[in-house]
Amino acid sequence: MIWFAGLPCPAAEPAFLHGEVLAMKIDGRCHCGFIAYEAEIDPGKVEICHCADCQVLSGSAFRTLAPVERDSFKILSGQPKAYVKTADSGNKRAQMFCPECGTPIYSSAADGVPPLYIRVASARQRNQLPPKTQYWVRSAQAWLTDLRLLPKFEEQ
Ligand SMILES: [Zn+2]
Ligand SMILES: [Zn+2]
Repeated sequence: MIWFAGLPCPAAEPAFLHGEVLAMKIDGRCHCGFIAYEAEIDPGKVEICHCADCQVLSGSAFRTLAPVERDSFKILSGQPKAYVKTADSGNKRAQMFCPECGTPIYSSAADGVPPLYIRVASARQRNQLPPKTQYWVRSAQAWLTDLRLLPKFEEQ
């Protein structure tokens, strides 16, 4: 997005123009704290991916991700490690994660070229970033739609 004179500082989150959220500054860290980052994302582009790779690589039923706006992603500390996965299509993607604790941070093209896709679960603002779209629903776990029927406990 383009910032116009008179708009609030981009650091003020989220940014509004004519009532529409354009970009939101987020920051996050891995579980152990070795990796810290900041980025800007469009809250309207937060998505869920149900593909088999995302299930295995996230260790969960699906992954929540969002494309990073422009070149706004900045590593504030640490250096993520890359695991390059090859999709059935032959497409190679670099999966960047913390080498100390394994937390997934983002993905990019194999050579690191944007767009980067941030793993929203590592963002401090994740509670404000509900997903807007689901992809690879074909491989989604069928029990997901029944979650609200399960017994619930506030804590363990
Ligand atoms: Zn870590
Ligand atoms: Zn996926």
